[in-house]
Amino acid sequence: MTTLDPWGAVKIDNYSKLFDEFGISKFDELLQKIPNPHRYMRRHVIFGHRSYDSVLEAILCKKPFAAMSGFMPTGKAHLGHKMVMEEIIWHQQQGGDVFLAIADMEAHAVRGKSWKECRDLGINEYILSAIALGLEPGAHIYFQSKFDPVRDLSFELGIKANYSELSAIYGFSGETNISHMVSAITQSADILHPQLKDFGGPKPVVIPVGSDQDPHIRLTRGLAYKTNLFLVEIRGEGHISVRGKAAPKEALKEIAKRTGGKLYEEHVDILTLKHTLLEVESIVREVELKYGGYAFMPPASTYHKFMTGLQGGKMSSSIPESFIALTDKPEDGAKKVMRAITGGRVTLEEQKKLGGEPDKCSVYELLVYHLLEDDNELLDVYTDCVGGTRVCGNCKRFTSELMKGFLEDHQEKREIAKERLGEFGL
Ligand code: SF4
Repeated sequence: MTTLDPWGAVKIDNYSKLFDEFGISKFDELLQKIPNPHRYMRRHVIFGHRSYDSVLEAILCKKPFAAMSGFMPTGKAHLGHKMVMEEIIWHQQQGGDVFLAIADMEAHAVRGKSWKECRDLGINEYILSAIALGLEPGAHIYFQSKFDPVRDLSFELGIKANYSELSAIYGFSGETNISHMVSAITQSADILHPQLKDFGGPKPVVIPVGSDQDPHIRLTRGLAYKTNLFLVEIRGEGHISVRGKAAPKEALKEIAKRTGGKLYEEHVDILTLKHTLLEVESIVREVELKYGGYAFMPPASTYHKFMTGLQGGKMSSSIPESFIALTDKPEDGAKKVMRAITGGRVTLEEQKKLGGEPDKCSVYELLVYHLLEDDNELLDVYTDCVGGTRVCGNCKRFTSELMKGFLEDHQEKREIAKERLGEFGL
């Protein structure tokens, strides 16, 4: 059984297992319908999703939707963080309301960072880079510890989660401190709060994550169901059941009336001939809001593959050579590329004869994930590499120049972003 560990930097080798073991759906099935897909979508870096259909429908029909993500301010923002920032920014460009949390409570409780360090790292590493990459005003940027809606909601959600459930997901033990547990629930509140009335009410919300973060998503989807007044389910062939154990009787009556369903003691049965599941869910949400419930939609998620470390293995914040930080000096970033592990053969002769192995090459990965936007140009690199006409030395020089250019440009934009923090309410 694969274990996903959101607190450690696990590398998941066999992504296909996730589809079967954890019920993650394949992203490819949606790809054709997405207008202007992001390069991570086109290149299958984003490989899975939960309920992204609801977000896609909102994009296509120009209905409200949101995207949210959080960053734990413990160190330097690097290319892995850039991936999430880009995904959030892409959803803002598609018309979504976007939310960016600085998870200072988690950094303080789990990693022992002082509040001042959290504030400084949050702004200087994460927020400035997100703005430099294209985040626009209107985005909701906040620090967990200073944001009442999230803190209040996390307290409510905590009522619906117990120790056994959290420890089954996160491996908490008797030694785990209470604030660590609180920070897990706070992340669920981060994810659900865009659906509070003050932020426009229930709507599809996507959380772009690496697959190691799926336990958070599953916990939060479960909490959304448990916190709602009603549970809507397909019950066998031909009917939908709306259960509302904690709901006022009048609310169930109203649902029965509006759907033409049959009212029982604690549920309503509706023939699917009368309404589709989506229609019933929409009616139930309206009734739930009227009676003071949250009516949360289960949060959607997309899952991207991890970048490998520049030296092979995984990227680790304790090994600076394994990653490129967005604030690395451009020359240093370029040098890291020159020292990176490639998919080249042992000798030039072999390389010409057998071709390189771009699928095992961290330099190629930089081109795929970050440095080449043009798919045709990327395809040329791939073809030349496997055909043995591309030599690693030249290829690394080419990539390191691109990296240097990217970092120079990004860091200039970060300087401009410093002057723009006020536009984001910071
Ligand atoms: S030629 Fe480029 S892409 Fe191919 S293995 Fe060498 S460095 Fe990697």
